[in-house]
Amino acid sequence: MANGKIGVTTENIFPVIKKFLYSDHEIFLRELVANAVDATQKMKAVSGMGEFTGELGDLTVKVAVNEADGTLTITDRGIGMTAEEVDKYINQIAFSSAGEFLEKYKDQLNSIIGHFGLGFYSSFMVSKKVEIRTLSWKDGAKGVLWSCDGSPEYSMEEIEKQDRGTEITLYLDDDSKEFASKAKINELLNKYCKFMPVPVAFGKVEEWKDGKYVETEQDKIINDTAPLWAKTPSEITEEEYLNFYHKLYPMQDDPLFYIHLNVDYPFNLTGILYFPKIKERMEITRNKIQLFCNQMFVTDSVENIVPDFLTLLHGVIDSPDIPLNVSRSYLQEDANVKKISTYITKKVADRLEEISRNDKESFEAKWDNLKLFIEYGMLSDEKFFEKARKFALLKTDDGKYFNYEDYRKLIEPEQTDKENKVVYLYTTDPVAQYSYIEDAKNRGYQVLVFDSQLDAHFVNLLESKLENAKFVRVDSDSIDNLIRKEEKEKPQLKANEVKELSYIFESVLPEGANYNVQVENLGVTSAPILITQSEFMRRYREMSALGGGLNFYGEMPESYNVVLNCENPLIKKIVDAKEAQTKSITDEITAKKTALQSSLEELDAKNKDKKYDEIPVADKDEKERLNKEIDALDNQCKDAMTKFAGNNTLVKQITDLALLSNNMLKGKELHSFIKRSLEILK
Ligand code: ADP
Repeated sequence: MANGKIGVTTENIFPVIKKFLYSDHEIFLRELVANAVDATQKMKAVSGMGEFTGELGDLTVKVAVNEADGTLTITDRGIGMTAEEVDKYINQIAFSSAGEFLEKYKDQLNSIIGHFGLGFYSSFMVSKKVEIRTLSWKDGAKGVLWSCDGSPEYSMEEIEKQDRGTEITLYLDDDSKEFASKAKINELLNKYCKFMPVPVAFGKVEEWKDGKYVETEQDKIINDTAPLWAKTPSEITEEEYLNFYHKLYPMQDDPLFYIHLNVDYPFNLTGILYFPKIKERMEITRNKIQLFCNQMFVTDSVENIVPDFLTLLHGVIDSPDIPLNVSRSYLQEDANVKKISTYITKKVADRLEEISRNDKESFEAKWDNLKLFIEYGMLSDEKFFEKARKFALLKTDDGKYFNYEDYRKLIEPEQTDKENKVVYLYTTDPVAQYSYIEDAKNRGYQVLVFDSQLDAHFVNLLESKLENAKFVRVDSDSIDNLIRKEEKEKPQLKANEVKELSYIFESVLPEGANYNVQVENLGVTSAPILITQSEFMRRYREMSALGGGLNFYGEMPESYNVVLNCENPLIKKIVDAKEAQTKSITDEITAKKTALQSSLEELDAKNKDKKYDEIPVADKDEKERLNKEIDALDNQCKDAMTKFAGNNTLVKQITDLALLSNNMLKGKELHSFIKRSLEILK
């Protein structure tokens, strides 16, 4: 018939395409099968409209390999093409659009090729020669053989062809011979064509006969032409939803819930999303949401199409309205994609609300596995937060679940502090923080469990969103300080006595952290020492550890509050012993210090109206001397207290006990504690 030159601009574009498209060569198969499916559906349409009155016959698309020859054939019984059509669609359109495409996207080709088919042209990624044999359905059409060996030259001739439709034969490149392997093609068909809407056959059905599998005459259909998401939700049973899930993800546990998406205005979208059991963020990436376009697999990386937290879900989305021919970063900006993303988020929230309302018990039972997903959504999506606050649950340390409103009502009477804030107590580790939880519960307070990776952030979010609420970890202060009802009477200790006690306990606490020793009246039965870490500091350290740009807090040494309970008999005993053993020294130090301090005060009074420059040099020197002496006295006091503490087993013992109940006593210190305890028991 005719030979010609393909209308591409680059003299020889094939090396270019091969070079650029190395990572996704395999998509050629999807493109060719999709074309065959298209042509078949068009054939059905032509027949349906009465334009074609003959027999449609078997419309199965057939894929075949010849391993020995290194060829791959895709055959359909669709509309076929006339010679004019081959010229128009293949020589002019297919090739020129491929040329333009390459020019335009040269730089980003690798990132987008998987999501944008190059159509028929992509067959040249793997072939040294491609042949098309086609016969149009139209009356009087002649068979056409089109052949191209990878240069821009092609040939076209008339042939005898019996069957209507198109047969594409790929003569595979030497380095693409893998595509002539049955196993490889099986794998690819399974990946890309599993749900295409026209039957696709590859190989024959096998049968167990005389102790081995033998091929029968029957074609093996590799796809499910009517996947569950394309059916009407009301006609689908629970079991079918489950089975479909396992078909998609064979190794996975049953999902918690599913949502059937089905919308045709203002965009087209169907799909089924499943909520998997999620305990750890790490587990998640394995089973991704699969994106289809009219039942043709497009991708399983939907990051830019649905909000990040929804990528934790599993399942399928099918939409012809998601543009596939733009780069990924551009996708997020696309108006349709935005609408789709909003729609899915809303559907997910609605469905969760519905389940929480209609089936409270099962929702509670599944909460632990849902929590991470919902909290992540609430953290990352304002709209989702507003919806989810109606159904999200809080879990108490004794395993009860409450929605936000009920929980508020429950704790409000007891846990409102004198500033009218409702204080939510929580634990991040019920075992490690056991004694603090017990303290709180003895007061009639409730303690929530926030023990997942996201919770440091989530607690912050709740605190900012819930009205008049304050969140404090149960071990971050003594229980009376956590929920302050009225001013507690402070212990009757003089400043120097508090300082002496600080020196005593600091000398036995582990090095490498800062301690702020305080004295309080916590009651006769409460522990003698309470070691806590301020809620503020701890939360910021945790968040900076999770990454949030708060490194300043992350790098600071740990700092703790050490609260001495002056009402506890053991602390009283230590105070008494200190009095007895160090009174003569401390009295002397205190007397000297008081004298120095009054001299200092006199000096300051004398110069109080002067600016720094006007103060006489002699006075400045004298002040410095006085301060130095005071420091020296403080050091003397410190030495005396350190010595006292060193000889007092009780100090060391109760401090170690406090460390122990905070999981802070380790290694050598723990070992000496045990030895010392055994000594005491002798
Ligand atoms: P696209 O499928 O995106 O239009 P292709 O390059 O894959 O681009 O194909 C170009 C055109 O060639 C198609 O639009 C169609 O008209 C025609 N064509 C391709 N494959 C077949 C086929 N198997 N049967 C009939 N026509 C086909």
